[in-house]
Amino acid sequence: MLKITLKPLSAKSSTHLAKTQRDIDTLPTFEAQVAHAHQYWGSRTKNQAFQEIRNILAQGSGHRKRCFYCEDNLSTDIEHFRPKSLYPDYAFVWDNYLYACTPCNRPKSNQFAVFEPRKHTYTDINTSSPLPPPHGIPVLLNPRIDDPLDFLELDLFGTFKFNLRPKLRPRDQQRAEYTLKLFELNTRDELLAARRTEFQNCLNALESYRSAKQKQAPSTQLATIISPIHNMTHPTVWAEIKRQYPNLKKIQPQFMPDHLRTLLDLLAQIPEALSW
Ligand SMILES: [Zn+2]
Repeated sequence: MLKITLKPLSAKSSTHLAKTQRDIDTLPTFEAQVAHAHQYWGSRTKNQAFQEIRNILAQGSGHRKRCFYCEDNLSTDIEHFRPKSLYPDYAFVWDNYLYACTPCNRPKSNQFAVFEPRKHTYTDINTSSPLPPPHGIPVLLNPRIDDPLDFLELDLFGTFKFNLRPKLRPRDQQRAEYTLKLFELNTRDELLAARRTEFQNCLNALESYRSAKQKQAPSTQLATIISPIHNMTHPTVWAEIKRQYPNLKKIQPQFMPDHLRTLLDLLAQIPEALSW
């Protein structure tokens, strides 16, 4: 899970969103706002703005249009960070949109929690309340705002699960734990297997590059060898290899699993890979 930076939305599409949102916000009751948010959302594709929104979100999730959260599946849904059933005032707000796969979007659904003011505890928003929920600071990490790697660290030693970064503040620790649990980022076996495979793909690409460089292959061929690393399904794996490398180097080789020894050996021979 990485921070996502998106291109800005055009003025025309922004105006369309603002107008639709204003129509919802001016309704007299919360119940009516929720009902209209759903109704307008159902007919959103009639306006071209949503084609542009989908395109920008797809570009943000990389070459392979992966889910912002799990990275494993094709993104299929425009996801409301603040669910529209709870926050109809965010239904047509560009900053509230993410791109997610169905396995991530389904469990999230209307789940949302905010911190209680000046406390380290948080409240799950009650979905059946007829009253607007508190806005508050979200507990869930938002990859358009937060850098998930400030909170999480991938275990490259063997489990390929996310650990919490050391010395997190209490609120940040809760945010990291809440996000991991909500999207089951450490308990979906297919995610752990895919991250492990991606690590091996990185080793393969590094080994191919090292070998081709030794044989003085032309730069075009070297660029082709590197390209899988730039088009990975799980780009967090490569980002974590680069980030953790300085610390991995300090560990005695006898305390390391074979795959990490191979990695360190390759990076020592081709240090330029750390700038890829
Ligand atoms: Zn996902």
